[in-house]
Amino acid sequence: MNRNVPAIMAIMLTIAITAIFIGNVLAEPARSFAEEKCVYLTFDDGPSDRVTPAVLDVLKEENVKATFFIIGSNAKRRKDILKRACGEGHTLAVHSYSHDYSQIYSSPEALLADIQKCNEVIEEITGEPSRVYRFPGGSFTVAPELKKAVTDGGFRYFDWNASFRDSELPDASPEELYKNAVSTVANPKRVVMLAHDSTNKSATACALKKVILYFKDRGYSFGTL
Ligand SMILES: [Zn+2]
Repeated sequence: MNRNVPAIMAIMLTIAITAIFIGNVLAEPARSFAEEKCVYLTFDDGPSDRVTPAVLDVLKEENVKATFFIIGSNAKRRKDILKRACGEGHTLAVHSYSHDYSQIYSSPEALLADIQKCNEVIEEITGEPSRVYRFPGGSFTVAPELKKAVTDGGFRYFDWNASFRDSELPDASPEELYKNAVSTVANPKRVVMLAHDSTNKSATACALKKVILYFKDRGYSFGTL
């Protein structure tokens, strides 16, 4: 027997394991690749009667998908808008049912009940509950036990690292919002962009096309969370 057989077998085994490993990595969503520039457009606090459809129109025109962190109580009379978003390939994710900080942040149980109620709306539209969550106001100041309740409940939560700043600056023009969006990018490889599609955010819908073109011009792909 060739004395090199064990060595050759060891090399072949190593190659096979490496191939399996690479295969698994490649099977991951595109967002796991640091070298691919990706922007995740996210819209909080909708749906609303005029702004959400205007946002959807721009996304459709530009063939870009986004993630909508919805408020369940806003959705009651606007399920057709969410059905449209879902039908056009966007992701519906949990933000809150009530968006009432004093209520939802009062205890882990209250928070999970609010999430569940919002998720019932999503499930009615999409056929399945979402596992993607955004804390109202962001997770930055949320108590550790509340974050733990969310992750233990099977959710992944996302903050943002770029923003239209349309919440802090309600009177900003579309041009200002565009400048905010592109100048607040903290991680140029993986941009999670915060914007709002609530009732008074028509300037956001107006600014959106220019923001999308900015990232397209720089070779970004667009992902959903
Ligand atoms: Zn919100």
